Amino acid sequence: MGIVDEDVVRVREAADIVAVVQGFTQLKRVGRRWVGLCPFHGEKTPSFSVNQERGLWYCFGCQAKGDVITFVRDMEHLDFVGAVEWLASRTGITLRYTDRNEGEGRRQRARLVDAMAAAIEWYHDRLLNGSDAGAARRYLRERDLGGDVVRQYRIGWAPADWDALVRSLKLPEKVIQDAGLGFLNKRGRMQDFFRGRVLFPIFDAQGDPVAFGARKLPGDDGPKYRNTPETRLYAKSKVLYGLNWSKEDVVRSGEVIVCEGYTDVIGFAQAGMARAVATCGTALTEEHVRLMKRFAPRVVLAFDPDAAGQAAADRFYEWEHRHEIDVAVADLPAGMDPADLARRDPDRLRDAVAEATPFLGFRVERILAGAKLSSPEGRARAAEAALVAIAEHPSELVRDQYVMEVADRCRVAPDRLREGLRTGGPVRIAEATVSPGRRARDTPETEALRLAVQQPADMLGLLSEVLFDDDRHLAAFRVLRDAGGDVHRALESADPGAGELLQRLAVEDTDADPTDVRRMLLRDKAVRASRELEVASRHAEDFAGYSNVIGWLKLQIEKVQPDAPSDRAAEDELLAWLGQRAEDDPHHE
Ligand code: ZN
Repeated sequence: MGIVDEDVVRVREAADIVAVVQGFTQLKRVGRRWVGLCPFHGEKTPSFSVNQERGLWYCFGCQAKGDVITFVRDMEHLDFVGAVEWLASRTGITLRYTDRNEGEGRRQRARLVDAMAAAIEWYHDRLLNGSDAGAARRYLRERDLGGDVVRQYRIGWAPADWDALVRSLKLPEKVIQDAGLGFLNKRGRMQDFFRGRVLFPIFDAQGDPVAFGARKLPGDDGPKYRNTPETRLYAKSKVLYGLNWSKEDVVRSGEVIVCEGYTDVIGFAQAGMARAVATCGTALTEEHVRLMKRFAPRVVLAFDPDAAGQAAADRFYEWEHRHEIDVAVADLPAGMDPADLARRDPDRLRDAVAEATPFLGFRVERILAGAKLSSPEGRARAAEAALVAIAEHPSELVRDQYVMEVADRCRVAPDRLREGLRTGGPVRIAEATVSPGRRARDTPETEALRLAVQQPADMLGLLSEVLFDDDRHLAAFRVLRDAGGDVHRALESADPGAGELLQRLAVEDTDADPTDVRRMLLRDKAVRASRELEVASRHAEDFAGYSNVIGWLKLQIEKVQPDAPSDRAAEDELLAWLGQRAEDDPHHE
């Protein structure tokens, strides 16, 4: 695993889970727990709950769950060790490692990050001060990317030289190669990877430099853009340019704008929308979507998704459905990218984002806009074309909304279009089943476990295995009892079903009283036992023996009625009897 267990526990205990979560989503105190909008799925009513005392969180909407470490791991896109390190650095705990290699792997990564940082500074200085960078500075100035912007985004210039960078950095060849900054040429000499290009440094979501996007100057040879090759630091399908700067505004606004170019990201920020990111010369991937969803439930595409051939429509629908995000398309004037528009007409750019339409609406609108709606034939053709697009949407309810819209605009009876969908289009049934944060009616078993998780000192000692009929409840009770009420230790040995249950119960509100709940449990079990005995007595020869037991049991049940005075001795006697009965008759185990 990498980090000494004891240190993991220390970090978990030292970290204030509420404070950590608040860095990503607003929480409000409700009773004993804290609730807010879930940062892992899109929602408008809060179903994300945190139990500060126990250090656990659970989402009733998407069933995501965990402790402070898994929260950081998932939000910051780290592995377990990375998440512990993240928390350790904020709580001032020095970690000890169990495995030398693990530490070594991390040191290697740190060396690459340092090399990238040094390269960024070197290229940046070259752009600001190099006598050979005049054309690059001019190019940037013409695009309104002045000194402030250049400094803020650490833009650089790679001179048209063979090895200016590698000679200056004086780093080991292996580090240069592993960071993608240089390579061994045919003559066996180290050579710079970038030559004669404007460089946009790319950072990961945590702000570590991982790559460069390099643009050639107008008139130069070669492809317009060139990126750092895939390295240990950089996987282009997982990195979004600009996310390190924009994540704050993304979280605040609940929306992330996706564009195609580095200068588009900068343009959006200059137009007052510092929440844009760009794919780095690749189509949008599901990994990107997963990454964005960590920060916001709404994605606005600031490029023409069809014209760019970025993704087939059904992929967007699939992502919308699977990741519970909304995908909308900003309506940009044809032939103008966001960077241009930010310069010429920032208001128009802001409107395009504010009025972004759902992806299907965008497609239908374009079909209708390009059709000749003045003639009956034109309207029929438009309706058919629109129907093809509508048919791809997986939700029947959504499809029908557009059917009515198209029917209206094309003057066709909606039922004709519905018929067309039924016969022509794929019919998929929408399954919008977001579980509500409210819980169903509880059994005393659930309530008892909830208290056992939240107030183990008060509840655990009152319980016993015989009080649980449900297998999952029993399993959860056993691991919790064996861990002495330490829920984190219990979770380590719990099976998935019991683990899930314990996690959820830890964040649910309860104002029940442990002794009341125990009485309820006891009464339930006793009532059931007495019913079973009555059934058995009808077939039994020893009727008198049965009726004695049944009579005694009925008296005991009276003593544990909710309105009866507290009688701890009677309760203990009843519990002992239930335990004995379970032992005598394994049937009732
Ligand atoms: Zn959730």
